[in-house]
Amino acid sequence: MAQSAEYPDLRWMPPRAYGRGRDGKAVRYIVIHYTAGAERSTSAEDGAVYDQHRTNGVSTHYFVDSDSVVQCVRTTDRANAARNRGNRLGIQYELCGTVQTRAQWLDAASRATLRNAARQVARDCRKYDIPVRRLTVAETRRAWTDFPNGPRGIVGHVDCTNAYPEDGGDHTDPGTGFPWDVFLDMVRAELEGDDVSAADVWNTDGLIKNPSWRPDGSTNPYIAGKTALAILMSEAHAANVRATQAVTAQAQLAAQNAAILKTVTGGQVTADVIRAELATFQDQITAAIVAQAVPLLAEQLAGQLDDITQDQLAQAVETVQRKLAAELAAGGTGA
Ligand SMILES: [Zn+2]
Repeated sequence: MAQSAEYPDLRWMPPRAYGRGRDGKAVRYIVIHYTAGAERSTSAEDGAVYDQHRTNGVSTHYFVDSDSVVQCVRTTDRANAARNRGNRLGIQYELCGTVQTRAQWLDAASRATLRNAARQVARDCRKYDIPVRRLTVAETRRAWTDFPNGPRGIVGHVDCTNAYPEDGGDHTDPGTGFPWDVFLDMVRAELEGDDVSAADVWNTDGLIKNPSWRPDGSTNPYIAGKTALAILMSEAHAANVRATQAVTAQAQLAAQNAAILKTVTGGQVTADVIRAELATFQDQITAAIVAQAVPLLAEQLAGQLDDITQDQLAQAVETVQRKLAAELAAGGTGA
């Protein structure tokens, strides 16, 4: 089973017809469609197979059903789903199913499809800096006339039909019952990382647990993440040990010279005062080590896990920061 090079966790099923590049244009929006077909759990795969054989030149970037997303065309290339202008500016999403009422879109099967679509739309929004909002027809028009400075966002096929009458399209999907409010909220939730908890990111036998990050096998993110974390932890512990040794040596020096200290400061500074100051200093050093270790971890993870999101990275870093601070405070060696 071939996997997408662009999103390695997605199945890759290229169609018979699509365009290389975007004819001088670039991605400006997401286009939501329905297939006007079945909404079975195999419908995405069925749709992709159909596009491998059909001879009328139609294709899409993605098919989405209740249990999967299949990618058919790279987002840097043109899929043929929304006539000339819509094809050259849009990333096409075919949601498996047909015209539905709002209630039908929100039933279990369609809701699962919406959520799968939202997860992938969020990734494309992040990749192309697309805000999570539906463009008006006028804005969809300006995305073309003001290119490359026009607005970006998410549209329905119907919006392309209405924005570009010269293209002669007549499709009205995804229909007036499409629950735009619910769908856009799902996309926002994905971008805000609502579905990823720190526990998803962190576990004791490795850093990375989320199976959607598994790539094509050339690198293993579990091992890469775990290695980056192990290096970070051992460096932080070594730095903390050196700091502890230095502070201890200073405290011993103060104790040896307790009588002199007391005399020259008129009793103001005793060995106990020095030890208390040094303890505070030690805490500051530990805090500094934790603070400096975190950007290092972020850099290492981002370099090794191409598809880690900013939210996931931030959560991993925050979890590691907490764990490292607790370990250093407890005086562990990190071994
Ligand atoms: Zn359509």
